[in-house]
Amino acid sequence: MDEIIGRARAGFDTEGLRHGALVPLQRGWARPARGRRDRQRRTRLGKTTGIEWTESTWNPVTGCSKVSQGCKYCYAERDWGRLQHLPAYHGRAFTDVATHSNRLDQPLRWQKPRRIFVNSMSDLFHPDVPDLFIWRVFIVMAQATRHTFQVLTKRPDRAFGIISKWCDTGLVFRSGYGAVLPNVWLGVSVEDQAAADERIPILLKTPAAVRWVSAEPLLGPVAIGAYLSRTNMPGLRLMPGFIDPLPGLQWVVCGGESGPHARPMHAAWARALRDQCAVAGVPFLFKQWGEWIDADQDECPVGSPRDRWMWADGSPFFSQDGQRAMPLFCRTGKKRAGRLLDGVQHDGYPSMLDGDLLANGA
Ligand code: SF4
Repeated sequence: MDEIIGRARAGFDTEGLRHGALVPLQRGWARPARGRRDRQRRTRLGKTTGIEWTESTWNPVTGCSKVSQGCKYCYAERDWGRLQHLPAYHGRAFTDVATHSNRLDQPLRWQKPRRIFVNSMSDLFHPDVPDLFIWRVFIVMAQATRHTFQVLTKRPDRAFGIISKWCDTGLVFRSGYGAVLPNVWLGVSVEDQAAADERIPILLKTPAAVRWVSAEPLLGPVAIGAYLSRTNMPGLRLMPGFIDPLPGLQWVVCGGESGPHARPMHAAWARALRDQCAVAGVPFLFKQWGEWIDADQDECPVGSPRDRWMWADGSPFFSQDGQRAMPLFCRTGKKRAGRLLDGVQHDGYPSMLDGDLLANGA
């Protein structure tokens, strides 16, 4: 427990750091294992996680259970073994969901404003998390107004139920479809069309300052045009004071899968999301290719071993195959695959100007 408190005092949250940037010393937790310079620079900037679209992670809940194909190779479950030496994880199964009251005040002690990913190691709306604890998390987010909180769930039905209940009983105030808290972005993870059609409509009914989608790991083509915000559409002129009766998604993040069992993401799927966002004027962030990169991105190292090349149907690549009418993928690893889509880095973020909030009914 002391280690956790000491780590929090130092402003670190190691769970967002992939592959152990901190190592246990005989006493306490302080010394970066590698990349000290980079670590120090990122900490100065308030960025203490490798997740591209956020700056810090905050895990008042740990542990989860799988709900769909996107969870199959869950990175939190993969990291679970690595974290077993920490008291908060030791001896617990990943499916043993636990709340950590002692972590609730961490964001209140982080002085520098930052974007905070809530529960990178769990799902805040998991059925084993008590309503009261979720309320306490929201109280902290309400108090920490200098930060922006990015809540991501695969259980939007519970999020909708709880937040609607708060609104209906007068615990929180909202206007129309608008925000409960102006600094909380509520998003859903979707991996394919079925998940999108199930989760996004529920999200769009739920009050939030920004409603967003993380299409990661993207496992198939996803059409979301009907769900995107219409208020930012280029050339669209809204009447003064008009409130869109169906506020849409205001941010889309897209990424491929990482890890030893990663499934490849087709460039066509990522391009389609990018283009749908461009048409609607919705910010788009391309997070990563993941373990595999589509060979048409010109990033595949020449002369890779055969087992690093794969056709979209899973068959291995042989040079005599010639030009088959399907995408070819190369396993380069996440770092090398990078995050350029057709040579462009997409780093869109939702605007939080008052005008945008008003346009979306807040
Ligand atoms: S909901 Fe998220 S944290 Fe939970 S099992 Fe699925 S991928 Fe993992």
